[in-house]
Amino acid sequence: MNKIRLLSPQEIQKIAAGEVVERPANVVKELVENALDAQATYIEIIIKDGGESFIGVTDNGCGMSPEDARLSIAPHTTSKISSVDDLVQLATFGFRGEALASMCAVSDFTLKTKRENDDTGIQLNFKNGVLEREEIVSCPTGTMVSVADLFANIPARKKFLKASETEMRHITQFFQATALSNPAIHFKLMCDNKLVQQCPPAENTQMRVVQLWGHHMAQNILPITAENDQKQLSIHGLISNHQFQRFNTANIFLFVNQRWVKNSNLIKAFIRGYQQVLPPGKYPAGVLFIKIDPANIDVNIHPRKEEVQFLHERTVEQLIQQTIKQTLEAHVSKQIITPFAPPPHAPQATLTSSPAPAHIWQPVDEPIPQWAAYQPATPPTIVEPTVAYAQQTVTQTAPDNQPETYRIIGQYLNTYIIIENEQGLVLIDQHAAHERILYELFAQRFQEVACSQLLFPTVVAVTHDEAQLLIDNAATLAIHGIAIDRIASDRIAIRSVPVNLKNADLAGLLIHCADLFAQSQTNVDMLHEYIRAQMACKAAVKGGDELSKQQINELVTQLSKINNRLTCPHGRPTMWIISLPELEKHFKRI
Ligand code: ADP
Ligand code: MG
Repeated sequence: MNKIRLLSPQEIQKIAAGEVVERPANVVKELVENALDAQATYIEIIIKDGGESFIGVTDNGCGMSPEDARLSIAPHTTSKISSVDDLVQLATFGFRGEALASMCAVSDFTLKTKRENDDTGIQLNFKNGVLEREEIVSCPTGTMVSVADLFANIPARKKFLKASETEMRHITQFFQATALSNPAIHFKLMCDNKLVQQCPPAENTQMRVVQLWGHHMAQNILPITAENDQKQLSIHGLISNHQFQRFNTANIFLFVNQRWVKNSNLIKAFIRGYQQVLPPGKYPAGVLFIKIDPANIDVNIHPRKEEVQFLHERTVEQLIQQTIKQTLEAHVSKQIITPFAPPPHAPQATLTSSPAPAHIWQPVDEPIPQWAAYQPATPPTIVEPTVAYAQQTVTQTAPDNQPETYRIIGQYLNTYIIIENEQGLVLIDQHAAHERILYELFAQRFQEVACSQLLFPTVVAVTHDEAQLLIDNAATLAIHGIAIDRIASDRIAIRSVPVNLKNADLAGLLIHCADLFAQSQTNVDMLHEYIRAQMACKAAVKGGDELSKQQINELVTQLSKINNRLTCPHGRPTMWIISLPELEKHFKRI
């Protein structure tokens, strides 16, 4: 007997089906894209059991003639191309001409369709690729496709379907992406007889975002737009501001020439735009439409076209990251400075166009020499000065040699520092500000933290597990200048810490670190950032701490010299500026 056999057409079709249809979300995608190609303005999706038992997509598009309906199910039939050469120019989404054939081969499949000028439509029922029934029916114009009992005839594949919640998550992601990139189209998503999302035609992407993510989102989104010098690359869209946070990246949608892509490098670039703005482990949301010369991308690297390859990926990544960073900075500085025009004697701040909030204080490019106060020689606690501080005017020199003058007015509730400067009246949240200063310091000094040996080691009581985690990760802590020993199964001794941490809650810090070590199996950079943020938080002055005039002065000076000074590492603002015009307006002087 021969070992080699020719597979039956049904088996071949089942195998081919696997390439197009791997999971319910792929079925939804193919059907919705067909509906879009058919110029539908209303698309309704019904899902049961994460798509495993039922997927139905109904549209009001152009429909098909009975002959076309029969043909559409056959493998390699399409109305969209006639030769491979056409692939290059193709404007529509589907183009392999095998989606319907594939899903028909692996499900209980129904197609019902009618064209506008026909009186009746046609309904075809297939079971695992075999035609069971064909009938003339009366139905509205458009097409309805349903796919039931997906993979019932391929147990091997069915086994690989994830829990229905997981499959549903994939479907919802696709739904959102499609709804975002087609705001004018009415979409509806039902799951297990419940309405999940209803999106009537929206005027623009912004309104669609609000439909999808809720009204509170309207206050938290910023428009974003940029293009590179050669204008071969542009981006526009909407991003969340510094006040919005999520635990994952599921709300970041990127489109390249209108096609939704899941490019992890671009998503990383997007997230890098929020560095210093969102706390580690928290993620933003956004919709970015990237337009690029098609000659500079390859869309055919993925069988389901979910990925694209860029000729110059770094350029795209940089444009995304920088534009986001600049948009956020401009936004935060606009919020911090009151929405009124700057006072007449202040320089005309170009808040919307300037990338950095330069006119609050000039950013410093080389901050290292400024940290003298934080060298081991100078302990962080400062002796009370004897000068009558409130009247003192401090002049400091910004890097562009423009003197920056401010006067310290005092401290309110031992929590807010009040100063006046050229911008107006400035309120500073002392904890948030100090946290940011220390965070930047630790980032600068990463790997070479100025440490001090503790005269009396601090002993921290922990659980046995925590002790083990801490000792296993002692090397990581050492990088941050924290040296520990295990002195009993449930006791850790802290031998040295960075100078700024000397008076901090070290027990709290260690236990928090143990928590971090327990959770983080993955990203080392992230872990370091967490530790750094936690160190900054623990070492920073607290709200309610009385500060000496000299401490206030030092804090304000330090703050004026660092980057990212407008928010703390958790994204909260560090300061609020009330301009003279706003004050005058309030008191009805103008
Ligand atoms: P492709 O989309 O790659 O052409 P499909 O198997 O998805 O292949 O569809 C085959 C053909 O069936 C399409 O080219 C189109 O002419 C027709 N078709 C499929 N779905 C619809 C629909 N919802 N409305 C109108 N025509 C459709
Ligand atoms: Mg198609």
